[in-house]
Amino acid sequence: MQGQMINSQLTITEIMRHAERVNSGTEVVSITHDNPIHRYTLKEAFKRVRQLANALQDLGIKQGDRVATLAWNDYRHLELYYAVSCSGAVLHTVNPRLFPEQIEYIVNHAEDSVVFFDPFFLPLIEQLKEKLPTVTRFIALTDSQHLPTNNIEDLTDYETLIQDKSSQFTWPDIKEDQASSLCYTSGTTGNPKGVLYSHRSTVLHSMGSALPDAFSLSLDETVMPIVPMFHVNGWGLAYSAPMTGTKLVLPGPKMADGETLTHLINEEGVTMTAGVPVIWLTLLEHLKKTDTQVPSLNRIVVGGSACPELLIAEFDELFNVSVHHAWGMTEMSPLGTFNQLTPSIKAQGQAQQMATKLKQGRIVFGVDIRIEDWEGNELDWTGNQFGSVKVRGPWVASGYYKQGEQLDSNGYFDTGDVASIDKNGYMMITDRSKDVIKSGGEWISSIELENIAVGHPDVKEAAVIGVSDPKWGERPLLIVVTHQVEVTQQELLGYFDGKVAKFCIPDAVVFVKDLPHTATGKLSKKDLRTRFKDRTLG
Ligand code: ADP
Repeated sequence: MQGQMINSQLTITEIMRHAERVNSGTEVVSITHDNPIHRYTLKEAFKRVRQLANALQDLGIKQGDRVATLAWNDYRHLELYYAVSCSGAVLHTVNPRLFPEQIEYIVNHAEDSVVFFDPFFLPLIEQLKEKLPTVTRFIALTDSQHLPTNNIEDLTDYETLIQDKSSQFTWPDIKEDQASSLCYTSGTTGNPKGVLYSHRSTVLHSMGSALPDAFSLSLDETVMPIVPMFHVNGWGLAYSAPMTGTKLVLPGPKMADGETLTHLINEEGVTMTAGVPVIWLTLLEHLKKTDTQVPSLNRIVVGGSACPELLIAEFDELFNVSVHHAWGMTEMSPLGTFNQLTPSIKAQGQAQQMATKLKQGRIVFGVDIRIEDWEGNELDWTGNQFGSVKVRGPWVASGYYKQGEQLDSNGYFDTGDVASIDKNGYMMITDRSKDVIKSGGEWISSIELENIAVGHPDVKEAAVIGVSDPKWGERPLLIVVTHQVEVTQQELLGYFDGKVAKFCIPDAVVFVKDLPHTATGKLSKKDLRTRFKDRTLG
């Protein structure tokens, strides 16, 4: 028997309608290239979104067309999020930190028709413009006064584009399965691959990620996403914040500037912020150096890579801020797990609480996760067996743009991560499947060793890779950047004693000035493996 409920479509247009009517007074505060502090309400935002939708129509954008952005987190980018997707077109957020050849590849692969870019990226656009045959117009995200001198034909600034447009617009009816946005993974191997989100996946992800034991968004919160809006929809906060009436603080090009972030937190009363670990290390250093407190901030969500223990401990002890791990990926919109302590773990001692906080967290409703051994058998949640992480759910990709479905025979997507899940449901990523070190039949987690290494006070950053070994197949090599101090190999290796099984301790240490990173700020193990491929440890 069928249920008798209204089958209304889950679309971003509905988020917008709700936000405009119910949360119209919610503020959005931004820093942009042309304005040190811009402030308006959602009511004003959505009026401009309709002007922009009219402008897009005049530019000839039709349903299904791809519209690219190379932009920071700010109010104009937010307006594009809604105007493009709610017009039925597809918002293609391009990561400007990718190599120019990768950007050329993905804009051409997506066949973008218009590119909106922050003036900051003008040199990149000037370099690439002749190589992007599908792009008919470039728009600079600024006003006429700040439009830089350029050699791009017909370049218009955003404010001129929308200023005379009507603020009335009839939004098209959109089916919830229609594509809403597109984001390419950085492609650590091969070409970047496109993940094509739908209106439905976006709405469900916004609802799931806003829940109390996840991002916990509400009218009482002010969120400052440091995770860029050009990467996995800024973890969906540009949708979930307006949906819940959460105030948004968008730091524009100042995302890596500890002083600006501190100022924004304290001036705007930021309660929650989200981003990759390296940002939080920068903020922590700044707060300690300037002896500044951030009383409104009560939590930081960390994802993208594992969070060092020091970050969790120091934010808690020195600033009374709790740091929560979240895990996910571009293919998962991105949220999969979130680390919130259960009441029984909160009742345990500090050491046990910390051991749990270092895990990636518990599964968020809406995502089904299983871990499998190398033969595809599902593993129990014991905490000591690790295997491939497979996921399924309405906000998980079934394949990549212009490629077919890529699910396993059970209908799950293979994340390429290796993890264990303990009896309380906390998942712990132990590695990427390609980074696990296979030593004499045993599997060694490179991440676990890196986490230990960065716990040493003299170590600034650490990477562990497997290098070939005639006897064991592979052995771990530790590569470190140290603070400006002399520390010996012997001392660093001794630091692992008692922290991991003997066979896991790296065989040697290489000291380097810096480590290579990918466009999304993660360690590039691929580059390290190439660099040290001929190294033997004997
Ligand atoms: P994002 O940069 O948003 O994390 P990507 O798709 O670029 O998305 O990368 C996803 C991968 O990043 C995951 O498969 C996982 O390997 C790693 N990752 C994400 N979050 C965490 C985390 N909290 N701890 C450890 N690794 C993580």
